[in-house]
Amino acid sequence: MFIPGTFAPPSSSRATRVLLLGAGELGKEVAIELQRLGCEVIACDRYAGAPAMQVAHRSHVFSMLDGGALRRTIAEENPDLIVPEIEAIATDVLVELEAAGRRVVPTARAARLTMNREGIRRLVAEELNVATSPYRFVGSEREARAAGEALGFPCVLKPLMSSSGHGQSIVKTAAGMAEAWSYAQKGARARTGRCIVEGFVRFDYEITVLTVSAVNGIQCCPPVGHVQVDGDYRESWQPCAMSPAAWAQAQAIAKKVVGNLGGSGVFGVECFVCGDEVIFSEVSPRPHDTGLVTIGSQMLSEFALHARAILGLPVPPIRLLRPAHSVALLGNGDGEPVISGVAEALAVPESQVRLFGKPECRGHRRLGVAVATGETPAEARERARAVAAAIRISVS
Ligand code: AMP
Repeated sequence: MFIPGTFAPPSSSRATRVLLLGAGELGKEVAIELQRLGCEVIACDRYAGAPAMQVAHRSHVFSMLDGGALRRTIAEENPDLIVPEIEAIATDVLVELEAAGRRVVPTARAARLTMNREGIRRLVAEELNVATSPYRFVGSEREARAAGEALGFPCVLKPLMSSSGHGQSIVKTAAGMAEAWSYAQKGARARTGRCIVEGFVRFDYEITVLTVSAVNGIQCCPPVGHVQVDGDYRESWQPCAMSPAAWAQAQAIAKKVVGNLGGSGVFGVECFVCGDEVIFSEVSPRPHDTGLVTIGSQMLSEFALHARAILGLPVPPIRLLRPAHSVALLGNGDGEPVISGVAEALAVPESQVRLFGKPECRGHRRLGVAVATGETPAEARERARAVAAAIRISVS
């Protein structure tokens, strides 16, 4: 039985067993943090050799959208905690198993609501009355064009189920909707044909509010600023300079959303900031890619915070040690990636790299991250960029 704060050795009958659903780079860091506390970690993903599998006690390869396989694996492993690390999961199975007594992080409802943009958008905008971009849900190209005309161009078309910018485009005119629609259908994770059309927000900057909900309450980490290209994160930094009014609003939004989703763990609440006004964009009920920067900036990274919170342990007041900056290391091409230049990269003061060990690259793929700290945010940025510039990735 799982008793918070009590740990028996991994692989013993009383071990604290954690099943990671999704074994990417964020899951790898979570797995390491869980193991530091003596947990037994089992990683699942749809391909062998995924990053978190490389550090887990055991692994299983199957599609997490396959409800039958998911159910069988959970029955076989009998985990104390089920930890979704990706969105594409048969969440109805999680809802059912949670009702039967299984613990799902943060909650099965949070996993279900956030796997589909419609669930979370309706909750946040329509029930919690938090400001978002104007939006319409659409089921055909014709509806999408009409929504664009109603909201105004440019607008943003996104599949309801997608991540990392897949299938997402900015549509400048009604005539551009045809191409955007077919791109959205190709990039969608599930062939539902449903999309969201959002009004284009001319934000000054965007942030992630890493918010941790633990036994001793909900806290926000200092704001993480980031830049995205084609819907995918390229650089992030912490702290992000903000007006006190905007930061107060961002924290209020984050705490409201996280409080409603419930459960324990780290959440990445993404917001757009326009002057002193803050607009909710999305939330991940798990550590966030832009939060990789906390490896350098915080005494407890978002992964360490997640491990503590999900294990029912308290999280002390969050301490920012030093300004930090991260740069995603992307491969480009199809084949096996080889990463070189790491010796030069690590000669940069206060630098770290994480190389995810992904066995294969297809198109653009994040294969690592460069993180550096400095006396000032500008110094941290300069160093992180120097680390990234020294690294070469060949794919063949
Ligand atoms: P998402 O997948 O919804 O997180 O979107 C990825 C990125 O696309 C965001 O971080 C923004 O940089 C950009 N983006 C998404 N929605 C909008 C919007 N309505 N207006 C302007 N930019 C957006």
